Amino acid sequence: MKALRFYAPEDLRVEDVPEPECGPDEVKLRVRNCSTCGTDVKIFYNGHQNLSPPRTIGHEIAGEVVEVGADVQATYGGDWQVGDRAQVIAAVPCGDCHECRKGWMAVCQNQTSVGYQYDGGFAEYMIVPREVLKVDGLNRIPENVGYDEASAAEPFACAINAQELMGIEEGDTVVVFGAGPIGCMHIRIARGVHKVGPVYLVDVNAERLQMSADAVSPDETINGAEVDVVEKVMELTGGRGADVIITATAANVTQEQAIAMAARNGRISFFGGLPKNDPTITCDSNVVHYRQLHIHGANGSAPEHNKRALEYISSGQVPVKDLITERIPLDRVLDAFDIVKKGEAIKVTVEP
Ligand SMILES: [Zn+2]
Ligand SMILES: [Zn+2]
Repeated sequence: MKALRFYAPEDLRVEDVPEPECGPDEVKLRVRNCSTCGTDVKIFYNGHQNLSPPRTIGHEIAGEVVEVGADVQATYGGDWQVGDRAQVIAAVPCGDCHECRKGWMAVCQNQTSVGYQYDGGFAEYMIVPREVLKVDGLNRIPENVGYDEASAAEPFACAINAQELMGIEEGDTVVVFGAGPIGCMHIRIARGVHKVGPVYLVDVNAERLQMSADAVSPDETINGAEVDVVEKVMELTGGRGADVIITATAANVTQEQAIAMAARNGRISFFGGLPKNDPTITCDSNVVHYRQLHIHGANGSAPEHNKRALEYISSGQVPVKDLITERIPLDRVLDAFDIVKKGEAIKVTVEP
């Protein structure tokens, strides 16, 4: 079968590899969609400390069950049958550590990841590892949800996790930094689930801002390359500031702007991580203190967030179909990374 193998930074090859064999406590999938995100591009250029080459990467996965190991039902339950449609979690918690037992699986201290320690989804077939089955991380795709949409459940789950931590209230004014696919999903969740008020979308790339605005219709777009973002948000909110601010970008300045534009009792999610070699910002701590700001981190998602993402897609509360703007065969998966890097599409999915 064909698979995208990572050997070293900038050395990734689509090559023929043996079809993987399904062990007694594993499930084998025919991958139907594996979507791409900025993480794939990061891996392309930098690799990752937890990624042991050669490795098939790809972590936003949906596929069809083609084999179920003999012990799967007895060990993990789930009643999986050949022909079932399934979505796979990407971040795999251990289920046993302090954090997992507390129900904070997104910050499991022994977390592993599909596409890092286990072969991922840029391949015709893949094995769902026992570690995924152990934490109920293989999810049935609802009948009215396509494989393409289901493959977007993983990034979507990360956004759900972030917003659940923020205490968003009906009618809140929201600012989202970053007009990528995640920024679009954040806007859809904020409106569809949390029933927020006005939403403002910020980016410095005019074309990407326009493309995403056409899809998710924020109440206003703000081009950070052209105007003072903080001033603009203050003006739009009558000087009060934004209640909820989500930075879905790796730009340090957006975190500083988020603090500067927050309303009293404002809630901020530092959703996007900052560059490893430049992870600090300047924070006026008195602003946080006197305005009683709440600053939240967000680290991926837990298995339950993936389930909830599939439910929201199925119920129509949070549509994702129209956010998938590019479909690419596995042979051309490296072109997909290029499109993601240039920000020329909202969501790119690979169809092996
Ligand atoms: Zn991803
Ligand atoms: Zn754990």
